[in-house]
Amino acid sequence: MSEKFDVIVIGAGPAGYVAAIRAAQLGLKTACIDAFVGKDGKQALGGTCLNVGCIPSKALLDSSKQFYNIAHNLPVHGITVDGAKVDLNTFIGRKDKIVKQFTGGIGQLFKANKVTAFFGTGKLLKDNEVEITGNDGSKQTISATNVILASGSVPIELPFAKFDNKFIVDNAGALDFTDVPKRLGVIGAGVIGLELGSVWKRLGSDVTVLEALPDFLSVADTDIAKIAAKEFAKMGLNIKLSAKLTKAEVKGNEVALTYEDKDGPHDLVVDKLLVAVGRRAYTDGLLANDTGVKLDERGRIVVDEHNHTGVNGVWAIGDAVRGPMLAHKGSEEGVAVAEWIAGKAGHINLDTVPWVIYTEPEIAWAGKTEKQLKEEGVPYKVGTFPFAAIGRAVAMNEAIGQVKMIAHAETDRILGVHMVGPGVSELIAECVVAMEFKGSSEDLARIVHAHPTLSEAVHEAALSVDKRAIHKGN
Ligand code: FAD
Ligand code: AMP
Repeated sequence: MSEKFDVIVIGAGPAGYVAAIRAAQLGLKTACIDAFVGKDGKQALGGTCLNVGCIPSKALLDSSKQFYNIAHNLPVHGITVDGAKVDLNTFIGRKDKIVKQFTGGIGQLFKANKVTAFFGTGKLLKDNEVEITGNDGSKQTISATNVILASGSVPIELPFAKFDNKFIVDNAGALDFTDVPKRLGVIGAGVIGLELGSVWKRLGSDVTVLEALPDFLSVADTDIAKIAAKEFAKMGLNIKLSAKLTKAEVKGNEVALTYEDKDGPHDLVVDKLLVAVGRRAYTDGLLANDTGVKLDERGRIVVDEHNHTGVNGVWAIGDAVRGPMLAHKGSEEGVAVAEWIAGKAGHINLDTVPWVIYTEPEIAWAGKTEKQLKEEGVPYKVGTFPFAAIGRAVAMNEAIGQVKMIAHAETDRILGVHMVGPGVSELIAECVVAMEFKGSSEDLARIVHAHPTLSEAVHEAALSVDKRAIHKGN
């Protein structure tokens, strides 16, 4: 007889481990299976996010920002530092320590919540049985009333630029360079390409970003993307739009690239190439042929609005299903599914999931862009406020960017907030709360915001929706 659980979660990324903890909190006997092997060769819980995604990228972004500020921000404050150097071992080692702290922390949380952790690859069989293949090839089968699939995503590989993780790297490779590449090529001006491109640019790499699409950051609001593009250009990130990589060949210690734009093919030689052209749902080996779980045309597990696959007791969450590939989206789906399984009222609203890009300046948004509202024929009004008129931002010497708030023209309900500037990764939270409570721009306009803070930009943008911002002309 196989060991029986109430819930088995396959995958211990931010979707799966959170689902497992919440299920256990609700009194369900829970197991979580994960195959991720850390740098030390041992099981590392936390998935892409903790091991090779959100956390390590933010660690390197913060370290590289400290270094960049020495030359580019401190002199304005009257502080000069001569001979600043980066010790890459310490730089990468700090990141590794943080990763270990957090991946180890998930193990402790599992123990504290009595989640049974299995190390290996889980495969869903018929009737909610799950076969676990250990990394040594050993097999065992467990079963559960409910199985939550949380197998996440992996980087998309271009057939003509295959990862060798030495010269042509994915996100994991770009978090672990042993030298600062003199010339770094980045394919894809998406979130990952911009963040990791920024890290190495700040340390001195000559970074060229090739983006196949004609518009920069087309997922973001156009005005915000325009401001960001200008700032990235000022910082020296060389972003080429309508430039499609067609060939990449490792020659000696270099990578020879060919890309095409409207003027035809061009050559470019770099020392390292980061391919960041998006991620795909990962379901390799996850499903036996007769489970009944379906995949869509993009290989994502098909689920309904309650993350149910349509197969009795089988659910799926996180990057492996539709919706934005963001850690917090997966985590909230995990909580909701655990609560639905326990007979409680789970909740997830994909319309208010905040997006953040941790570049300099940061970019953040939630809700609809102007372009989307135009396409949908929704009447709207817009308020904006620049950080240049925010005392705190000027005091910080980071008075760049703006907050843009979009509200319904008749009801004043906030439909979207889009920001580029200092601290916007934190400022977006207030707007998400307002939107989740179906708030209006008037609501935010009437709330007292501390002075002097960056949050005053949100307040003034809300006032500006009705042309009554105080510290700018309307
Ligand atoms: P994953 O984190 O991919 O976890 C899935 C886990 O399941 C993995 O450990 C995998 O090994 C395991 N697994 C898969 N199949 C099996 C199987 N059959 N058996 C056992 N185990 C299996 N998002 C943000 O919100 N903010 C950020 O700042 C951010 N930064 C990022 C930076 C980078 C460089 C990258 C690459 C991603 C970033 N993301 C960020 C995205 C974020 O990492 C993902 O959205 C998130 O990790 C998805 O969570 P998940 O649990 O669905 O999947
Ligand atoms: P994201 O999905 O946000 O990670 O962004 C990936 C980006 O890579 C998208 O904007 C794609 O347009 C871009 N992209 C995909 N293939 C290529 C290619 N061959 N050359 C240049 N850019 C590409």
